[in-house]
Formats: sequence, C-alpha cells, structure tokens
Amino acid sequence: MPIYEYFCPNCKSRFELLRSMGSINEDAFCPVCNARGEKVFSAFTSFSKDSEGISTSVGGFDKCAGCTTASCSSCF
Ligand SMILES: [Zn+2]
Repeated sequence: MPIYEYFCPNCKSRFELLRSMGSINEDAFCPVCNARGEKVFSAFTSFSKDSEGISTSVGGFDKCAGCTTASCSSCF
C-alpha cells in the first residue's frame, strides 16, 4: 500500500497515512488536531519520466543539475 503525505493547515504539521488505492481521494484527518489535511506530493511522486524513459528529478538533487553521467558518482 502506498504512503501518502498530508499537511494540516490548522496546526501546520505533516503526517503520513497508508492508503489503499480505493481510498486515495478520501479525506485524511490530522492525528494532532483532527482537522482535515491537504495531500502533499512527496519527492517520490514528483519524479517524472521524459520521452526517453529516463527518470528526471524535478526537485532536489541540485548537485546533479549538470550531471551527464549515469552513476552520479562524480557529482559530489
Ligand atoms: Zn492538525
């Protein structure tokens, strides 16, 4: 089951919930204040694939911005 991350606008906390595929769109309630949370798209789901099927980071990994190697071993 995938884990979804939520942000509570009421108490500014983040929480994660395990959700089955059928309950993705159901409301998630904050474990701290029980307000309704907003879904956060995690770094995992912000990865996108281009037309060549190569995974491209759209957030983070700034050190790899100019990386042309496959291993990224020279980035650090
Ligand atoms: Zn809350």
